[in-house]
Parts: sequence; C-alpha cells; structure tokens
Amino acid sequence: MSKKLICHNCEAKLIKIKKFSNYYLVSSDCKPTFYKGDLSICSNCFLIQKPIDAKWKKRVNSIYKNYEMFKSARGEDQKLFTSNNNDQNDRSSEILNLINSKIKFKKNGSVLDIGCGTGPFLKSFSKEYSNWELYGLEQDKRFKKKLEKIKNFKKLFLNLDKIDKKFDLIVLIHTLEHVPNPVLFLEKIKYLLKKTGYLFIQVPDFENSPFDILVADHSSHFAKSDFRNYNKKLNLNKIFLFNKKIPKEISFLLKMRNENKILNKNLYNYNDFINKKIKLNIYFNSYKNFLNKITKLKGDIAIFGTSIAATWVAQSIKNKDYKFIDQDINKIGNYHMKKKILSVKDIHKFENIIMPFRRDLSLKIIKSLKLAKKRFILLDK
Ligand SMILES: [Zn+2]
Repeated sequence: MSKKLICHNCEAKLIKIKKFSNYYLVSSDCKPTFYKGDLSICSNCFLIQKPIDAKWKKRVNSIYKNYEMFKSARGEDQKLFTSNNNDQNDRSSEILNLINSKIKFKKNGSVLDIGCGTGPFLKSFSKEYSNWELYGLEQDKRFKKKLEKIKNFKKLFLNLDKIDKKFDLIVLIHTLEHVPNPVLFLEKIKYLLKKTGYLFIQVPDFENSPFDILVADHSSHFAKSDFRNYNKKLNLNKIFLFNKKIPKEISFLLKMRNENKILNKNLYNYNDFINKKIKLNIYFNSYKNFLNKITKLKGDIAIFGTSIAATWVAQSIKNKDYKFIDQDINKIGNYHMKKKILSVKDIHKFENIIMPFRRDLSLKIIKSLKLAKKRFILLDK
C-alpha cells in the first residue's frame, strides 16, 4: 500500500514532517481547500516539498482547472506592500525597477516569460523596451487573446520542450515553486538562454514567508541555500540577489558562466537541513499559538487582508464569525469566502483584528494604522 516517497528533485528518500498534517491548505489563488496534506524534506538535497503522489496531482489539477489568475501572486493587478510603507505597486513594475537598477538591456532583444499568465510582466516590459520581442509560456491557451493584445507579443508556447529559439532574457516569476523537478526544469531553461542572456527567478522565500508551506499547489519551498546549490550544479552565476526590497521573496538575476567549473561533489550542506527543521518548528509553534489565541477571542473579529494567510486563518476558525478588511481599494466591496470585504475605515468596529502576516510586517502595518488601543492578534514569531 504505502510506496516509498522520493524527492522530485534528486530522487532520494523523503523524510515526512509530521506536524504539517494538522493544518489546512490554501490554493495559490487564495481559496480554501478544506483539506490537509503532507510535507516532506529530502534526505539528500534538503529541499522542503510536497510529495508528488497521485493524490497531490489530482488535487492540484483541480485547483488549476478553476484557477483565478488575478487572485494569485502572478495576477494582473496584484498589489505589493513595499517594506517601508503601505504604498502599493504592482509586482511587475517593481521587478522591472529592480532589474533596471542593476543592468541596462540593449535596444533590441527577446524575452520569454515562463508562466506568463495574463502577461503583466510582459506588458510592463514592453512599455520600457518597446523594440523587444515578447514570448510567453503557459499550460494552456486561456489567456492567448489577452497576450496578443500586448505590443510586440510574438508567440505563446504551450510546451517548454517545443521552444525552438534562444532568448536574451528569461523570467520565472512565481513559477518554479509550482514545477516538479525544478533543477531539471532550470537546466532545460538554461539551454534556451543566449550566451550573453540573463535569467530572472522569483520564488517565495521559505525562511521569510511563514505561510508559504500551506499553499497546496506549491510543490517546492525554497530557501536561499537551495539556489546556492542549484547555481553551482547548473553552472549559473549569480549577478544579483534582491532581498531587501521584496522581503518575502527570493529574487535572483543570473547569467551563464563562461568557464566550465569542476563540480564540487559535496554540494549539500547538512547545516541547511538543521536550519530548515528549526524554522519549520518555529512555524508550527506559531500557527498553533496563533489559532489558539484566536479561538479564545471574545467580541467581533476582523481578519486583515484576503491573502493566502488570511484565507488560511478563516478556513481554520470555521466556527467563529469574522469579517475581512482590506487595504487594497480594488478589493473593497468584493466578496471573499462568501463575505463582503470591508475597508480599513471600518476597522474601529472590531474589538479583535487578526494580522495574518510575518510579525515584523504586522507591526509595520499596525503602526501605520495608528490604532494603538485596538486588539491586534499577531504571530509569535
Ligand atoms: Zn532531493
């Protein structure tokens, strides 16, 4: 009955993380799944991952079937809270600003966006680099018409193995965490880069986003140390690592190395394994205490935001009544989990405000709200 589960990255044995199955999962387009799942860590490459078995595949296919792109991290109007204030910028222009701050692309070129969705990055890119040819890769043709409206959009590829050209820039924004066998995937992508080409990768940062492991359709949960190993393995050179400006994500700009370096055989460091296990324990204790605190609340409850973490909290406290409040003006008045989303202006109506964010981000938001007397419920760590 029970088959031995192996790592989707290196095929070594997986170690099951027991406490994980106590918690509900959320889809990356912020919907409750109402199920719990498994999480493992590889005994060899130490990648934290969802075991890719038949059950996981079936569940993820059903998530993608009803996927709402605008609600996901790759969505068209996804707003991003920058670290120092509550200014909302869309993710694509923020990424482009980051890249532009470090390198200047030539006048003409070609860019491939892998997992392009409705094309928010390509759209921002074409405004700045109007002579570049734009290409996208997606699982299906759902957004083809929308993409074709973007200036200089040339082609939507549906299969990585069928791409027949090389690019000056390839971007993977919130894509790699969905892909089984990420190293093999990256290796294939490497060969689609021109010799002078750049690769930009952005994924959630396991060490700095406490709720990412609860995303049902994320099969890998990367830490910076994972990429240190992959870059070595793939002979890629890190040009820049952007972490300060987008603190919940790992964002890399990479280039191919010219020389072929001899691979260091002892690629994986056991210390990474220990650090990840410590972090996981911190997260599980935080979840437990957070939900315990919420269960004991008396009075009206508001959940701040309608993010993955907010959805997870709402799903986990099913028997309690609550409302959602959101800072994003585009969301106010809409419905989330069948509840109308209220504005931050309504916050004074609630005795308890649940802050489903990393603790330091919650403290920043609370400070900006200037509501010291209110009862905010925060993660411990
Ligand atoms: Zn592995």
